[in-house]
Amino acid sequence: MQLYKSVWKETSAVVNFPETETSQIMAVVIGQPIKHSLSPLIHNTAFAIGNLNWTYHAIEVSKDKVQDCIKGVRENNIRGVSVTMPLKEAVIPFLDQLSEAASELQAVNCIYWDDKKLVGHNTDGEGFVNSLIAETGKDISGSSFAIIGAGGAARSVIRALRKASVGKITIINRNHEKAIFAANLGGGDTDVGTAAEIPNCKYVINATSIGMVGTENEGMLPFSERYLRSHQTIVDLVYNPIETPLLLEARKIGATAITGIGMLVHQAALQYQLWTGMNAPIQDIQRKVISEIR
Ligand code: NDP
Repeated sequence: MQLYKSVWKETSAVVNFPETETSQIMAVVIGQPIKHSLSPLIHNTAFAIGNLNWTYHAIEVSKDKVQDCIKGVRENNIRGVSVTMPLKEAVIPFLDQLSEAASELQAVNCIYWDDKKLVGHNTDGEGFVNSLIAETGKDISGSSFAIIGAGGAARSVIRALRKASVGKITIINRNHEKAIFAANLGGGDTDVGTAAEIPNCKYVINATSIGMVGTENEGMLPFSERYLRSHQTIVDLVYNPIETPLLLEARKIGATAITGIGMLVHQAALQYQLWTGMNAPIQDIQRKVISEIR
């Protein structure tokens, strides 16, 4: 995978933002580590296709520099900010307002300006639902879902599924307390369950990091393949590798397999829309991202 040159490291005093041409508008992604982020590729591809004189940079920011960083966003007229680990909660005290999604999740993945106010929002859940509908062409309202995992990604997905009026949601997670906490975001028909309930669900979503390249769980399945059924739609939020062990098993038995690239691109597309007021060229971005990861 290509690495991006535009990573500005923080100095000991403040967070430095890169210089741009005076006419150029800047957006950034902040987090730590940041050098493997695909966000610069996604947004710079979208800006180029949209013929916008915008530029997007990755800035490495640690938790203890987040206040300086948001001050810098205000002073440097940064027009859009994507926020990633470990800053999604840490940025909240320094913003002027939170959207309903960010407030319920207590996690911000994107910051935009509303007049003179810096607003924190979260596009992960809506991005997931948009990508699922775009890739399957199906109406998900009333459908049953199994969510494996109860971390930040799982919580945003569960909340968005509630908004999309799906049917029963079953949450399966190693840590039971976290599963119960996540279940509160799903509304009435949401339960904590076990992997044995997976065969009864139409949609099965892996929202754990199991299967991700470069981790101790690389090459592993989040649950036994014996719980998969051919009528199911299996989505893996892990996008590196694109074809995860879970998706390979799903394809083997003839189930529908959906990669995490769709959510990645759709959540970014919603950010792009908030910042520029334009629709993002989703299919072009998706093609570009897949070609870079492969
Ligand atoms: P978190 O760290 O918040 O949550 C991790 C989850 O994975 C927890 O539920 C954790 O369980 C579970 N988990 C991790 N290791 C194991 C294991 N060995 N056995 C059982 N459960 C395990 O991470 P996120 O929610 O932010 O991200 C999860 C995945 O989703 C990542 O791979 C991330 O890259 C991906 N993602 C993809 C996006 C996309 O756009 N496609 C967007 C956001 C995330 P426990 O609670 O028990 O610790």
